[in-house]
Amino acid sequence: MSDKPKENKNVTNERKSLNFIHTIVEQDLREGKNSSRIHTRFPPEPNGYLHIGHAKAIQIDFGTAEKYGGKCNLRFDDTNPVKEEVEYIDSIKADIHWLGYDWEEREFYASDYFGRLYDFALDLIKNGLAYVDDQPSEIIAVQKGTPSVPGTVSPYRNRSAGENLDLFQRMNAGEFPEGSRVLRAKIDMASPNMHMRDPVIYRIINHPHHRTGNTWKVYPMYDFAHGQCDYFEGITHSLCTLEFEVHRPLYDWFIDQLMTDEYRPRQIEFNRLNLTYTVMSKRKLLQMVRNGVVKGWDDPRMPTLCGLKRRGYTPDSIKKFINSIGYTKFEALNDFSLLEFAVREDLNKKAPRVMAVLDPLKVVITNYPEGRTEQLETINNPEDPSMGSRNIPFSREVYIERSDFMEDPPKKFFRLGPGTEVRLKSAYIIKCEDYLKDKNGNIIELHCTYDENSRSGADTSGKKVKGTLHWVSVLHAVRSEIRLYDRLFMDPELDGHKERDFMEFINPDSLKVIEGFVEPGLAEAKPFDHYQFQRTGYFNLDPDSSREKLVFNRTVPLRDTWSKKK
Ligand code: ATP
Ligand code: MG
Repeated sequence: MSDKPKENKNVTNERKSLNFIHTIVEQDLREGKNSSRIHTRFPPEPNGYLHIGHAKAIQIDFGTAEKYGGKCNLRFDDTNPVKEEVEYIDSIKADIHWLGYDWEEREFYASDYFGRLYDFALDLIKNGLAYVDDQPSEIIAVQKGTPSVPGTVSPYRNRSAGENLDLFQRMNAGEFPEGSRVLRAKIDMASPNMHMRDPVIYRIINHPHHRTGNTWKVYPMYDFAHGQCDYFEGITHSLCTLEFEVHRPLYDWFIDQLMTDEYRPRQIEFNRLNLTYTVMSKRKLLQMVRNGVVKGWDDPRMPTLCGLKRRGYTPDSIKKFINSIGYTKFEALNDFSLLEFAVREDLNKKAPRVMAVLDPLKVVITNYPEGRTEQLETINNPEDPSMGSRNIPFSREVYIERSDFMEDPPKKFFRLGPGTEVRLKSAYIIKCEDYLKDKNGNIIELHCTYDENSRSGADTSGKKVKGTLHWVSVLHAVRSEIRLYDRLFMDPELDGHKERDFMEFINPDSLKVIEGFVEPGLAEAKPFDHYQFQRTGYFNLDPDSSREKLVFNRTVPLRDTWSKKK
């Protein structure tokens, strides 16, 4: 509790970029609050996989601790044994690590504190501040009243401490069925804040808990656990989303009963991350997994962190995006295109540029010697010379994109047409001499000639051409499965349709699978490796790939085609 924060130069240098949370933290540091300790926590409920919204919370929780030389705990909020699974715990840990954060040895569970919380409940009862209510939950709900109408006092509110103690202990001994009794805090049934109207703090659940087994028959409500867990762990800044603002007086009330010295956690709320065309609630994501709308939690169309990873998004791009939208006190809907912009910006610098043809048209270079293969040097990324270069094979037959040829091209079409010239990237200038059609009139093959003096890097041809095309050598190309993704939903504002189910807005064409050809070096790619396929987009290798078949996911097209569609 008395660790001093490490010196951190950033504190004074970065004033301009402070978000309001950091402004508060710095003020607390200046005032020497909590002996100038900074201790945060990330408190996921292990009832689903993490999504990009959680990344916003993770970034402020871990990021604040990092920035001010403090600590951040990982605390699983496992107060509901019915919905929680070990699979989720493992995935949550993997996703936080993927983002680049670490909780060191501080992996905690709300269930670690079940004993202390139970004892605290006993204290509240002894002090006349909690009582057992025998009424069913529907009656309790009705008696709560409305924000403008005070609640009705329960007939059990004035039970003696002795009777309450006896009943509560018997609830925990398994003497009563689920739903028959609850423990409520005795606060104020007329409070304008509904959360203060004698909230339920314990309920009976007959379900084994993943960590405590059958030890407990009563389980604390989230609202009774959360603030106290922060207190038990010495959390100084408890950062959470805006919907918890109205719960804060209740958390404070509990802490008031617990406090023994000056220390208390300070809760600060910020706005949630909401994205256009995206559902973010774990309940809805689970529904999509269960209904088979997607292939799993890590389907590349999911907003889960493991889905985004599989799609090819990088942790850096997610962090940049989150920093660009910032932390405020106002709910907002963020444009998915902004996230894609951050991904493009990041991959532009990191992803090697390779040749891949997604919709192949065969080109025969009639004056190129049969049986000859040349290795041509090409640079890996013009944005970063340190990424070096590689050789790619060139031969008499190559594939180009079907859309790079037009039989009757308009004026400004700088790609191939009858009699026109283009450069094949890192190779030669070719001229289209002829083309073949099948009986339906579809173009099936181009016949071109090349200028042997025009090789890239050693061009003495004196020719100037306007277009450069990507290509792969037919002889060397590796046939691959290419998965092209589109938005999972067709409506930008899914929450705007209260009366209609979100499933009605699923985009039936969110996945298109095609076959393409990639340059041979990509046979060495490892799952999750990033590439820019020249002129078409960013792609990565999917873990479904095998020796027999490479599978690529399109992370994002090179340009934002979506915004233009609207
Ligand atoms: P969901 O509503 O998606 O089921 P949740 O809030 O129930 O999520 P928790 O596991 O309780 O999920 O969340 C852990 C932390 O992540 C909380 O502090 C919560 O405020 C934060 N969080 C959840 N969703 C978002 C979001 N969209 N934007 C920012 N923070 C979020
Ligand atoms: Mg929650």
